[in-house]
Amino acid sequence: MDKSEDLLGLPTESLPVAWKIFKAFVFDDEISVTEDELVSYATDDLKLNLDELPAGMKEDLTVILLGYMNLWPGWNEKNDFLNGKFQKEVYFERFQKFMLHKMKSTVEGVYTAAVKDLDKQVVKSPNKSSNSNDGSDPEFSPYAISIQCPPAMLNIIQFSNIGDDVIMKQHLASDWQDLSTTQLLNWPHVQVMFRTEDICFTRRQATEYVRYLNFKPHESNKSNQSIIEDVHHRPICGRPTKCYSYTFLKEYFQVYMEALISSTKVSPSKLEEIQTILSQFLEDVRYIDVNNSIATNTAVLFRLSHLPFIRNKRLVRNNEDTKADEERVAYCEKIIPKIRFVLLYFKAKQKPTPLLSFEHTDEIKASQNMNVILPDICYKCSYCQLAYSCENSKKRMLDHLKNHHKMEPHVHCTLCKNQFSVLDLAACRWKHSCLESTSTAK
Ligand SMILES: [Zn+2]
Ligand SMILES: [Zn+2]
Repeated sequence: MDKSEDLLGLPTESLPVAWKIFKAFVFDDEISVTEDELVSYATDDLKLNLDELPAGMKEDLTVILLGYMNLWPGWNEKNDFLNGKFQKEVYFERFQKFMLHKMKSTVEGVYTAAVKDLDKQVVKSPNKSSNSNDGSDPEFSPYAISIQCPPAMLNIIQFSNIGDDVIMKQHLASDWQDLSTTQLLNWPHVQVMFRTEDICFTRRQATEYVRYLNFKPHESNKSNQSIIEDVHHRPICGRPTKCYSYTFLKEYFQVYMEALISSTKVSPSKLEEIQTILSQFLEDVRYIDVNNSIATNTAVLFRLSHLPFIRNKRLVRNNEDTKADEERVAYCEKIIPKIRFVLLYFKAKQKPTPLLSFEHTDEIKASQNMNVILPDICYKCSYCQLAYSCENSKKRMLDHLKNHHKMEPHVHCTLCKNQFSVLDLAACRWKHSCLESTSTAK
């Protein structure tokens, strides 16, 4: 049909079945997909492993899929879409996200059953339907929980019990406090991209949250030997991979900052922001300690702390007979602060004289043009997938966090058991004294 070809033509190669179904729903057409096609949509696009589905779900899979497709609230905005209010990619992606979320939570509904088993105090082996990449730690708890909710709720969910049921509830979060640039750069889910003619890098907070139910609060203090979790090498557009020393980068940044400072056009707050981003990046290079250097085209994922942090919430049940509080189950949240950074390019050209001078930094000193002087700094909330670029990107990112996220509750170190505020930890790259003294011994 012509209309649909205009609006919904093309990117079909990657998701042919999903696209076909989506189109049919948008134009109120009959859906003609076979059962096999629906199953392939579940396995290929939604990445469900049929062998790991809870009992009974496999048989009903197609009915469940079609049921959720029907329920998507986005169909209410169909007319807006047809009138061109939003792009087809955006609309389709929202549909896909909804389906992914619904199917994932249906599969993970097996945890409800697992929680009920707690009363019988039967420890089961790790549930097969939990993804092996979710960081679950069977020694720690057999039950990992995946929680889907808006970011405003994410960190203030607690478990409680009413009668024999375990329920989730929302507690009040403490008031939002203003973040310094360093705190922002080390805040969960915050990504920054820094770009000038000479250098471009991204630095993303990839802090991992793993939530568990357990019989007792978390006590393990298993440490990881290596802080580097993953190194991914990927040449971009055939650019050769080059290696730069920490010292060279540091010298270049110094000259670059001097050039910026000498320009009267850059405000002190902008200078502070740039200086902080560059020094956090340099500190990353020093901290991961790979021959005291960094290579282009290489993404490095590393932990900011050898030991995870933890939040424990104990659930107690009042025992009618003994009048004593009997511990029933603990809700544990393990927090592993991580960063992923990539140096996309670095092409500073050093000049023979004077000592330590670079082509582009000299240009900054001479230029009257703000576009030449200022770097592009783009922030992104990797939780909400929202990016903020332009001059006041930092303020917009801070406003986003303030308006859509809640203050992080305190965390405990799994080794020294001390309590820390995330504000304090983010201000010093999640370091505290206990780690410094034990990280080499562990
Ligand atoms: Zn967000
Ligand atoms: Zn500690």
